[in-house]
Amino acid sequence: MSSNNNVMQTDILIHNVEIVNEGRAVRGYVTVSAGMITEVGEGDAPEVLMSCGEVIDGRGRLLLPGVIDTHVHFRDPGLTHKADMATESRAGVAGGVTSFIDMPNTKPPTVSVAEVENKMRRAADVSAANYAFFIGATDKNIDELKRADYSRIAGVKLFMGSSTGNMLVDDDSMMRRLFAEVPALIAVHAEDEALLRSNREAVTARYGEDLPMEFHPVIRNHKVCLTASRKAVELAREYDARLHVLHVSTADELQLFTPGSVAGKRITAETCPQYLALSDEQYGMLGSRMKCNPAIKRPADRDALREAVRIGLIDTIATDHAPHLLEEKRGTALTAVSGMPLIQFSLTLMIQMVQEGIFSMTDVVEKMCHNPARVYGIDRRGFIRKGYYADMVLVNPDCEPYTITDSWVLSRCGWTPLDGLSVGNKVDMTMVNGKVVYRHGVLFDIPGAAMELKFVNMR
Ligand SMILES: [Zn+2]
Repeated sequence: MSSNNNVMQTDILIHNVEIVNEGRAVRGYVTVSAGMITEVGEGDAPEVLMSCGEVIDGRGRLLLPGVIDTHVHFRDPGLTHKADMATESRAGVAGGVTSFIDMPNTKPPTVSVAEVENKMRRAADVSAANYAFFIGATDKNIDELKRADYSRIAGVKLFMGSSTGNMLVDDDSMMRRLFAEVPALIAVHAEDEALLRSNREAVTARYGEDLPMEFHPVIRNHKVCLTASRKAVELAREYDARLHVLHVSTADELQLFTPGSVAGKRITAETCPQYLALSDEQYGMLGSRMKCNPAIKRPADRDALREAVRIGLIDTIATDHAPHLLEEKRGTALTAVSGMPLIQFSLTLMIQMVQEGIFSMTDVVEKMCHNPARVYGIDRRGFIRKGYYADMVLVNPDCEPYTITDSWVLSRCGWTPLDGLSVGNKVDMTMVNGKVVYRHGVLFDIPGAAMELKFVNMR
């Protein structure tokens, strides 16, 4: 192929940019054609590429693989007064998220292949980012779980604990069958239901029902998490199942995991930016805005989770983006709903922690881009590599400081737990399958830009 042909075929060149990828940050260039990455080079781009379709000067910017947020609740269908796939996927791309995996606790719940397909059709119509879905485990749907196609479904979501009543699997024999028989990654919400209930009873007996938010992590305490996580890990070991423990929130649970790279691990772990940035010292200020399940715990937990991210005890960072209206967030530690929106600012918040010296940029890319692709076996995404889909995000790592406010929020709920936070970085541009879907505060609706995720090397 002559270089002239090459020029003809190149749609976009991004050059003069610091590419953060696979453990290194290197000044170089990337070309994109027909939705794919066609060239990744170091140093100056060859002169011949300067005349291609669009040339983007990335001076002073970082180019990262698009964020893959593998834990979101987009509330669609059935709870669309809070959020839907169109609004939340747009909030995502504005924050550098190019792919998401959505959880099954919608209305109706996603506990059959037919319901997953309904979501896929909806996403194909309206999503701005690439999409995939979990199928939820119930006490009754083991046969459905066994025959699902896990090249199109991300895995099975198992709720241990009361976060989502209708999908709660507390039946021991059913859990054993799930780990033994279902040929998929099992992603678990691990909080022990019986302990949770007895904690709630003990606390209300002593202090009454009108409990301030500080009681949330007293009810959903360390033991609630560790008991359930340990049980899930023991079952996974017994049956050699592929387990991903979601939103790890305590130092105590870290003993269950192994440090280092994802390669070869059968048991992996996720945490979320809120557990890395916040602690129970903030309940007084943020109140129910930071109420989520599992609860945000002590500064010592936050610090241990930070270290766990650095040494690979924690493999992925996802948001658990769980929008609710502010009026639903009113109430006490018992009555305010749990969950917060975060997808639009998760990358910004993590880069802020890089600037504070807590993480490195390569930690952030590893945990938010590379490892989500590795853990779930996502086909040709999560890396800036020739032959991969052109999902990328251009970040200004050192902009004029600005303050995040509720008024910026693109999620339907219209608020963020980060309201009032001053940050010094921002997402300049997001590219999904080679299409620029967000640039300098403007969203571009490009029909068909987003694609369904495919999964390879499952379980
Ligand atoms: Zn969740």
